[in-house]
Amino acid sequence: MSEIWQAALCDLQGKMSSLNFEAWFQNIKYRRREGQCFYLEVGDEFKKVWIESNYLDVIEESLAKITGTSIQVKINSADSLAEREDETHLVETVSPPAAARMARAKAGDQINPAEWASAALNPAADLEAAPAPKELKAAMLDCGLNPRHDFDSFVVGGSNQFVHAACSAVSENPGRSYNPLFIFGGVGLGKTHLLHAVGIEALKQNPHSRVVNLSAEEFMNELITSLRQKRMNEFRTQFRNDCDVLLIDDIQFIAGKDSTQEEFFHTFNALYHAGKQIVITSDKLPRDLPGIEERLRSRFSWGLCADIQPPEMETRIAILEKKAEADGIELSKEIAILLANSIRSNVRELEGTLIRLGAQASLLGQPLTLDMARQMLDRMDIDARQELSAPRIIEVVARESGITPHDIRGNRRTHAISHPRQYAMYLARKHTGDSYPSLAQEFGGKDHTTVLAAFRKIDSLLKENDPDISARIAELERALLG
Ligand code: ADP
Ligand code: MG
Repeated sequence: MSEIWQAALCDLQGKMSSLNFEAWFQNIKYRRREGQCFYLEVGDEFKKVWIESNYLDVIEESLAKITGTSIQVKINSADSLAEREDETHLVETVSPPAAARMARAKAGDQINPAEWASAALNPAADLEAAPAPKELKAAMLDCGLNPRHDFDSFVVGGSNQFVHAACSAVSENPGRSYNPLFIFGGVGLGKTHLLHAVGIEALKQNPHSRVVNLSAEEFMNELITSLRQKRMNEFRTQFRNDCDVLLIDDIQFIAGKDSTQEEFFHTFNALYHAGKQIVITSDKLPRDLPGIEERLRSRFSWGLCADIQPPEMETRIAILEKKAEADGIELSKEIAILLANSIRSNVRELEGTLIRLGAQASLLGQPLTLDMARQMLDRMDIDARQELSAPRIIEVVARESGITPHDIRGNRRTHAISHPRQYAMYLARKHTGDSYPSLAQEFGGKDHTTVLAAFRKIDSLLKENDPDISARIAELERALLG
């Protein structure tokens, strides 16, 4: 590998979260340099398009910095090279509609990677005959997929753009792009919605595709029933043979359940080796899942892990507007802003409040007013201003870290607890400006020097541009501030 490219990689690594770096840069191959042009190669067309539209500038910038001259980067995908060698048709560069969509995305529009990834991967897709809507709906319901949870009804913003792109790539090409796809994130952020969207899209692409969709808890219940009724052969056939796409929701449920894990391990292996797609959701990263065997945790990381973050303000407003339109609720911009401002970190709660408001207005036979919305928020005990206080910061950091506020206030020193505790201390000092002694009280009556030390440690890591800490603090601030 060129030393220059190697140096650029080190530089790039410092500019993004480790998850993004692993996902997009780990497997880029350096090919050659011709004068001021660097040629790179990635595995597939989707990656090429994504990197070109999101990272080309930073890559060129890094290379320019290292070489001291302006550099142009060209990316090829192994897919399209192979096709060219075969002298079959298609895809040397991105198709024109995809290029146009990328240009829009670059101009700061809401990106819909599903649109352009699908065009890039399969320019002829639009022309293929779609299955009859009725059959499709029946197929979705058969698999327990909620037809409302498709890609069209999912609002894409910065917080979920990456996971959305990964899901659409997987549903276009099950078993071929990322396997398994592991989606993780907090409660009510759209994990189940995206899981269903993958299943629905896979069925749209291929109505004969055998989609098996269930929660980890249902998997366990079926396993127990099959064991009891001595029907294990059927159980295994169902999951290992009669399945093209396996969607498993809330895998954290099988923590500590050894025989379910054992069975799931074999199911996973059988499907994986047969090239079948597996998509898993979880509330945490594989490595942070307690009570799950190492061999499973490592398998969960074989493909791509994508996290879903609480949506930003604009995305929350867009979600409310979309939902209002779908449910025929008249929602003014003012009310949308009030709700989006008040409920920041759980889309389910946001939608629930809108639905209750819609129901109230229609029961009263009146239009929905700002006052009604304020009263409802009051009753729900949601402070429409949501000022940041130490308890709120503790609560949000705990939730985002998969631990409890009690853990943060306590004294246990395992990394899973002490790191979030330090982040919460740093954020509390930064955002409330409260004195160290009063913060020390909030954090379970510790010595004020503990809070001071935590603040200084995180502050200095941030000043050194530590990539992991910077990314984590930015994520937490996003969850706090929206
Ligand atoms: P999770 O599984 O992460 O707890 P869900 O997928 O059940 O969350 O999402 C909760 C609710 O919020 C669902 O009704 C879902 O449709 C909605 N939702 C979440 N994110 C979005 C989004 N980006 N666009 C539209 N609806 C969303
Ligand atoms: Mg869910």
